[in-house]
Amino acid sequence: MNATGTVATLNSEVLVLNSAFLPLRISTVKEAICLIASERAKPVVEEDGYVHSPSMIYRIPSVVSVIGYNKFPKRKVAFSKLNVIYRDDMVCQYCGSRFSMRDLTVDHIIPRSKWEQVTGKDLRNGFSSWLNLVCACRWCNSRKGNKLLHELGWALLNQPYEPEYLPHLVISFEKARRKGWLPYCTFNVRLINSRV
Ligand SMILES: [Zn+2]
Repeated sequence: MNATGTVATLNSEVLVLNSAFLPLRISTVKEAICLIASERAKPVVEEDGYVHSPSMIYRIPSVVSVIGYNKFPKRKVAFSKLNVIYRDDMVCQYCGSRFSMRDLTVDHIIPRSKWEQVTGKDLRNGFSSWLNLVCACRWCNSRKGNKLLHELGWALLNQPYEPEYLPHLVISFEKARRKGWLPYCTFNVRLINSRV
């Protein structure tokens, strides 16, 4: 199906929900109109304005729900530096402050130079893992250097753990508010302060 409208409109973002109204992904107006036209989705929130297919006129969707799909994709949380930062909610686990992504790093709680001595294990065994990495601001990270926490008199804000679940979607609060997505962002979404 060919939907027509301005390119900006057709490419603008649409929140796609499953049939239980849980957010699955972010798509485009163009794809959402195709889903609606083929009766695979129905509009939930619409914006002012219209887009055209050869035979139909549609209100511009902002949120759609997929018909007959009430599943929710399960995904094991990949181990990555970014996910360590997300697990810790972008809060430095040493000073307890929240920072923007550009000021955040991950820190090995037990540093490389002391790992074998402290744990009796080699570096392949748990050094770079969920349990030995925490989100740290770059200032705390550089102050900590190669020291152990007790040498500095520091304590962790939270004990690190392997998360079973992290939200799939990261959406700016401002965008979610503007597009009427907020009521559907209660699950599977991390809302962040960003102007994007
Ligand atoms: Zn810090």
